[in-house]
Amino acid sequence: TGEEFGLTPTMAHSKALLVLENFIGGKFVPCSSYIDSYNPSTGDVYCRVPDSGKEEVEAAVKAAKDAFPIWSSKSPLERSQILNKLADLIEHDLEAFAQAESKDQGKTITFARTVDIPRAVHNFRFFASSILHHVTECTEMPTMGCVHYTSRAPVGVAGLISPWNLPLYLLTWKIAPAIACGNTVVAKPSEMTSVTAWMMCKLLEKAGVPPGVVNVVFGTGAKAGEALVCHPDVPLISFTGSTLTAQRITEKSAPHCKRLSLELGGKNPAIIFDDADLSQCIPTTVRSSFANQVPPTPVTQKPHWQQAGRVPEGLCACLHLPLDLNPKLSRSISRLCLRKLLRGKQNNKRLFFLLSIRRYQGKKLLLIPTAQGEICLCTSRIFVQRGIYSEFLKRFVEEAKKWKTGNPSDPTINVGALISKEHLEKVRNYVKKAQAEGARVLCGEGVDPLALPPGNQKGYFMLPTVIAEVKDESCCMQEEIFGPVTCVVAFDTEEEVIKRANGVKYGLAATVWSSNVGRVHRVAHKLQSGLVWTNCWLVRDLNLPFGGMKASGIGREGAKDSYEFFTEVKTITIKH
Ligand code: NAD
Repeated sequence: TGEEFGLTPTMAHSKALLVLENFIGGKFVPCSSYIDSYNPSTGDVYCRVPDSGKEEVEAAVKAAKDAFPIWSSKSPLERSQILNKLADLIEHDLEAFAQAESKDQGKTITFARTVDIPRAVHNFRFFASSILHHVTECTEMPTMGCVHYTSRAPVGVAGLISPWNLPLYLLTWKIAPAIACGNTVVAKPSEMTSVTAWMMCKLLEKAGVPPGVVNVVFGTGAKAGEALVCHPDVPLISFTGSTLTAQRITEKSAPHCKRLSLELGGKNPAIIFDDADLSQCIPTTVRSSFANQVPPTPVTQKPHWQQAGRVPEGLCACLHLPLDLNPKLSRSISRLCLRKLLRGKQNNKRLFFLLSIRRYQGKKLLLIPTAQGEICLCTSRIFVQRGIYSEFLKRFVEEAKKWKTGNPSDPTINVGALISKEHLEKVRNYVKKAQAEGARVLCGEGVDPLALPPGNQKGYFMLPTVIAEVKDESCCMQEEIFGPVTCVVAFDTEEEVIKRANGVKYGLAATVWSSNVGRVHRVAHKLQSGLVWTNCWLVRDLNLPFGGMKASGIGREGAKDSYEFFTEVKTITIKH
């Protein structure tokens, strides 16, 4: 698999320069100019990405407009079948997609294999299913002899703009609902991570997606992104990225009164009360800070999520089996563990597990995912109640130090490369500023040595870094760092910690740890946050609203929310 993309599972070692083309009206179209894209783990240019602008966006919007009448008149069932077929095709080439994502983004191959690409597949399946189950509303007014009902229709050409941290995962989280609802799309992935979107385009025809339904224009935000945002024939923009860019998009789209969905940055707190179960809380908070790792777990040990009886999304059953194990034996171990792990009976999560196990039977498997703290839901402020502060800090740092940073294609590595040289510098500068303000760096950047393999010396790597005794007003406690850095501070009372947790401009995700159920509810209600996880992190049901409040966004995504965003509602009144 993967040959058709010009990519093979060994492409991680290939020196050939990959040249991408825009995908417009069902055809790959070269661009007059290109920009370089770097492999973050080596620092080398390995790909050239079209530097599209107004002209390319114009052509893509025209193709999408032309395709709209055909696509929007298909039944939800027909569209659903096509989405499912596309999911199957991506899944078939999962390894090639994972290799490409890891090389392009710097994340570990394990994370790409077990989270990014399976989730992209799942996005198509999820919306293929959910589009079949929406109902409209109906009310009666007997005294007036009237019945009212609502109808929903696709809006038109949707502009979709996505970031670099979860490239195919987040792009498909937009494409899938948009086309499931009958819209056609012009998508613009991040210029730093364009490869898997280009690979997906190669599968669209085979899946049965008519030409012009999905168009992908590559390039920078300033040129391609703004051309899309300003295009008068694109009535809605779904954007995931930084708050700063969202402000610009809001300004630029205002003259056209566009519908906007904005999923933005975060400065997510974890609040840990002194009655929290630290054996669950510490590994989860390390993972939520440095996303998304649990230290390697041998098959004989009971993974902590099994005890909780459910499987957090984003994790998968990765078993530690020796390479030379008889394949039959390894298969039966896998099945046995699967059965135990799947007691939660959560169908969508089951899919994750089955997929991962099928891929890895008989191979040496280690746990898993990481994304270098480059996930919008990552914890970056940890408030610990004073009575357990010292113990928590000691155990937390010990756990963080277990993480291995290095070559992302090595399956034993937990932390891959950051996205770019500039981003690495930005993240490092936050640590320096914290030190200058008198905070203590307990591990990671500037404290521990970072040993990298010879091929990765020029890559953009950084160790998981824990900072303590940071003031609430410090930029490290106020601004989104978006790297493997987390701050730990002490608090005394419930009232105090709620105020401090809410004391930032963001409001995306929060985590609360306590064994007092009353307190957990109280605190969750008072937090200004679109998502609150209590005694867990990143357990998601895609049916429910996802998104942030305050500077973390406008609007929500999910089964119903995405359906409402990508359709126009009409109220019809019938008098009888
Ligand atoms: P970014 O805002 O720099 O870029 C995001 C996308 O917008 C890219 O495709 C970029 O090319 C494009 N863009 C940039 N300027 C533009 C403009 N003027 N007009 C139109 N498009 C433009 O963000 P990033 O650095 O790629 O991603 C990291 C950010 O994304 C972080 O802040 C992170 O928290 C956020 N994020 C949020 C979520 C969420 O669901 N809330 C998920 C992932 C990432």
